[in-house]
Amino acid sequence: MPDVLTLGEVMACLRADGQVKLGGTARMSVAGAEANVAIGLTRLGHDVAFVGAVGPDQFGELVRRTLRAEGVGVHALRTDPAPTGIVVFEQRVAGVTRVDYHRQGSAGGRLSVADVENAFAALPAPPRILHITGVTPALGEGPALAVRAAVRLAKAAGARVCLDVNHRGRLWPEDRARRVLTELSAEADLVVASEDELALASAGDDEPGRVRSLLAGAATEVVVKRGAAGATAFTADGALSRPARPVTAVDTIGAGDAFVAGYLSGLLDGLPPAERLARAVTTGAFAVAGHGDWEGLPTRAELPMLDLPDGTAVR
Ligand code: ADP
Repeated sequence: MPDVLTLGEVMACLRADGQVKLGGTARMSVAGAEANVAIGLTRLGHDVAFVGAVGPDQFGELVRRTLRAEGVGVHALRTDPAPTGIVVFEQRVAGVTRVDYHRQGSAGGRLSVADVENAFAALPAPPRILHITGVTPALGEGPALAVRAAVRLAKAAGARVCLDVNHRGRLWPEDRARRVLTELSAEADLVVASEDELALASAGDDEPGRVRSLLAGAATEVVVKRGAAGATAFTADGALSRPARPVTAVDTIGAGDAFVAGYLSGLLDGLPPAERLARAVTTGAFAVAGHGDWEGLPTRAELPMLDLPDGTAVR
């Protein structure tokens, strides 16, 4: 039985050493919000299954091989006739990264209700948690229906649903995003959002009002990510804030996904909210302190590393 089932678009990624238009070299890797969370969780020792689609091409093989190497279950990663999507990262100036997507018509966006139904049917037992993000429904009607189906099946099986709002403004019009994300956040047990995203995905005039409206619905927890300022977890017992871990930030992309992996890991381990949040800000800090979306994420044994004094040699 997987601890967590997640679904979404996973792409090949190219990280250019310089400006793309000038040519030169790029490193190949794998990217996608849900895949980042999946890898973050397997690094911490949890069992994760991924539902998605890649193309019948070498980028698809790269994705499959990488997820498998990281211990993510790929039985429900289908090979589709459409090509694997590609995302290109170019650090234009220190601290500013240009992200260029080539995902139109790609395999990941052809995720369907059938993919989700087949994945659930093939599981020996239901997952404890379903993790979804707002990226998937923004990819088109098919993926949006697939997310709905996943929520329905997860709830019917007694799994908890975690939604990371993860709004991608370039993928869909704001009114549609607002409607779909509000509907999904009303059904999720755990809602994770940045301050801006919370305003998009819930009713209420200010943060306390928005949190209250979610906690009055299905959600038992709402977690607001505040970048370098840390995060706050809201439950029926009140609010708990935690500052970010002081690290030298070299690449902030993927921090939110790493944070979610840490939070869900704490939840799976039965940790109380304060310790879940502590693990989440730790995994978030690991993500920003290293290059790549997921490459720098910690194993369980590495979690205490940020407590070591600067200059420590781990032998
Ligand atoms: P997203 O990547 O989704 O925009 P955030 O930027 O809010 O999410 O980052 C998620 C979490 O990662 C934060 O709550 C924080 O714990 C951690 N984090 C983000 N930026 C930094 C930073 N500069 N230094 C340390 N931790 C950070």
